[in-house]
Amino acid sequence: MLVGATTPIVSRSVVLSCRFWFQSGPIDFKFVGRNKHSQSIKNPLSNFASIRWNRKVNSNRSAMEAFTTRASAQPLRNADELIDSVETFIFDCDGVIWKGDKLIDGVPETLDMLRSKGKRLVFVTNNSTKSRKQYGKKFETLGLNVSEEEIFASSFAAAAYLKSIDFPKDKKVYVIGEDGILKELELAGYQYLGGPEDGAKKIELKPGYLMEHDKDVGAVVVGFDRYFNYYKIQYGTLCIRENPGCLFIATNRDAVTHLTDAQEWAGGGSMVGAIGGSTQREPLVVGKPSTFMMDYLAKKFGIEKSQICMVGDRLDTDILFGQNGGCKTLLVLSGVTSLAMLQNPNNTTQPDFYTNQISDFLSLKAAPV
Ligand SMILES: [Mg+2]
Repeated sequence: MLVGATTPIVSRSVVLSCRFWFQSGPIDFKFVGRNKHSQSIKNPLSNFASIRWNRKVNSNRSAMEAFTTRASAQPLRNADELIDSVETFIFDCDGVIWKGDKLIDGVPETLDMLRSKGKRLVFVTNNSTKSRKQYGKKFETLGLNVSEEEIFASSFAAAAYLKSIDFPKDKKVYVIGEDGILKELELAGYQYLGGPEDGAKKIELKPGYLMEHDKDVGAVVVGFDRYFNYYKIQYGTLCIRENPGCLFIATNRDAVTHLTDAQEWAGGGSMVGAIGGSTQREPLVVGKPSTFMMDYLAKKFGIEKSQICMVGDRLDTDILFGQNGGCKTLLVLSGVTSLAMLQNPNNTTQPDFYTNQISDFLSLKAAPV
């Protein structure tokens, strides 16, 4: 039963959010309108539609179900029940499968068990610095038997998105990002420029200096870039502002990343934010929590989204990605999110379940009756 609601908040960019209180707890709703600077989106798979529910509302579930969604995540008590209820598990990588270069305890046995039960396993990462092939090598180095076909990195998503909209092969892509994006664009048959090569370039500001840019650039792809500089900002900005119809694509908008385990480091969102600031344009995001990859996977493998469980360690990307896609969601506490963060009253993203790590799948059985 509805017991209260906040005053809706409407901003200049047509964002409306409102919190409703039910007897079972609070549920937040957020409507996102398109502002005048948004790009036209040709791909119907994109989640840049005019309305986005910030809770579990999607094509597979009715609005009424959303109102009956429990407000708080439940600890996973019976793993078999969850495993039996889905046919595909999508795993985030860092914080779920590994931490940095170290495999998380019990992962190989857990993946083997799921495969033995006939489950499809897919690995999705927002990290665009590597291609699928390069990630395949990382899995192999860690002793995991994972094929390239099972790996979906946001570097691949950028190339897959361009393919999905029939981006002309005679146009070029300017890349602000690392090698993974270049490799995937090359595999998809696209011409590109920029990337690591522009990392050492400097601008000599002399009176009257004007930077030339390639008028054939039809898309700027921005991902995490350790060699980000002013040259790249200016070049990308010129392409987006001056080349008619030039797309602004972001692999992700992650606020932070984990270059070392000593602290949090500025993530891909910082590079995307710089280009957004200079162009006054909103990017088209292909990584989590955008549903582009989810829609792509569902189509490629012919999976019903209700038959997918998204497993991740971040609320704002992984869990939202699963919820935006209409999947079941499981938060693991082996990465960046602690139980205190999950249960903080200000946190509005609640997965269906949470547990310490994926190897709990091996031990959490139904209580004997
Ligand atoms: Mg993660």
